[in-house]
Amino acid sequence: MRAQLQKAVALTKRLTLKQKRLLMTAATVLLLLTLTVPFTGSTWAVSVDGKTVGYTRDQEDTLELARGILEADGTVEENVATVEMTPVQDRKVKLTPKEELKENLTQALLRLQEGWVVKINGMAIATLATKEAAETVVEKVKTSFPPEEGSEIKKVHIKEEVEIAPQVARAATISEVDETVALLIRGTNEEREYEIKAGDSLWSIARAHDMYVDDIIAANPGITENLQIDQKISLVVPKPYVTVVSREEKTVVEAIPFETQTVKDNSLYNYERKVRTAGKPGSKRTTYAMVRENGLIVEQTAINELIEEEPTTQVMAVGTKQPAVVATGRYTWPVSRGGYVSSRYGRRGGGFHSGVDIAAPRGTPVIASDNGVVTYAGWNGGYGKCIILSHGGCSTLYGHLSQITAKHGQKVQKGQTIGLVGSTGKSTGPHLHFEIREGGSSKNPLLYFKHQ
Ligand SMILES: [Zn+2]
Repeated sequence: MRAQLQKAVALTKRLTLKQKRLLMTAATVLLLLTLTVPFTGSTWAVSVDGKTVGYTRDQEDTLELARGILEADGTVEENVATVEMTPVQDRKVKLTPKEELKENLTQALLRLQEGWVVKINGMAIATLATKEAAETVVEKVKTSFPPEEGSEIKKVHIKEEVEIAPQVARAATISEVDETVALLIRGTNEEREYEIKAGDSLWSIARAHDMYVDDIIAANPGITENLQIDQKISLVVPKPYVTVVSREEKTVVEAIPFETQTVKDNSLYNYERKVRTAGKPGSKRTTYAMVRENGLIVEQTAINELIEEEPTTQVMAVGTKQPAVVATGRYTWPVSRGGYVSSRYGRRGGGFHSGVDIAAPRGTPVIASDNGVVTYAGWNGGYGKCIILSHGGCSTLYGHLSQITAKHGQKVQKGQTIGLVGSTGKSTGPHLHFEIREGGSSKNPLLYFKHQ
């Protein structure tokens, strides 16, 4: 009796030493061992976490088996298991064959359970508890990219090969449906958010996080530069495991633009244009077949087009009649008194100055440089209040006026007041911008007249 007890104590010590070595060599393997010292009998019931997995006569061999399983698996701390061996008094109990014991130990130690794996192109992505759950994942993935308004889905499929198969897995690694759907679509479970601050733009955010603007857009479908402070955006660029291909159809009513046709009209002056028939856009009903991959249109074809209303061509009359004024062909200084050239014709800064600037006090009368007809009188962009006179083949332009005193279509005599010097439009002080145009291009006015 005493000898037996001593032997058992020695065995315990040896096992403890081995345990320590195990902990040191494979830090992730934790095997908690309780050994109940027997006084009689040589058959042991082996249990893992209180559940019997077999009977053995060889304690050491069984423990090696358990260690081997955990070591080969690289078991992490959360899987600490308690392996116990208790002596069995009943000598008739059947010993468990070693292979079966190994199998049972594996199942119990690794906490394995039956599951269903979802594979994409042969790669296992996640294991779900049931076949139904795995099938639900696939269905949910297919409906993850809703069609845009007015579009009807005809068919959806996943481009990659999807396989659902039974698979034994650890209880701890069984995934939920929604997290698996998100994983398949985003390629990761990573979450990385950024909160918009004052002054942020997609570009500044991308630069600060070593990303491209396109990445930010991919991570946040539909995002625009219209960012709101405190708005949260994702910085995780999706790399989906799946490509959801949907075939859709959409019918839209679109405008057909009208064309404009010009006709010559000798009852109008050559600076006049008149709309004879107003153009009107038509409309058509077009059905598009679209192919979308993960929500992005990759193909769009018009499969049916129905013209509901043809557009009406606009007819524009262009005058050919020469105004009944006889230009002298000699131009006079275009302000009634004084004035000096403050900016010449030609290259100026990075641009081209198409006339001369004549500085004169505000309100100085501006006069027609030759006999002509007023073909434009009104605001003219950077020219401000502006008059254009036609002299037959040539025309003159008077810009930045403070007041226009001539009317569109009016015949004016050389020297007649048509407006007053001002600083309207793109101007830094009172002056007249004066241009001479011949055949559509501007000429240097200073070559046409001498200061008088
Ligand atoms: Zn000018």
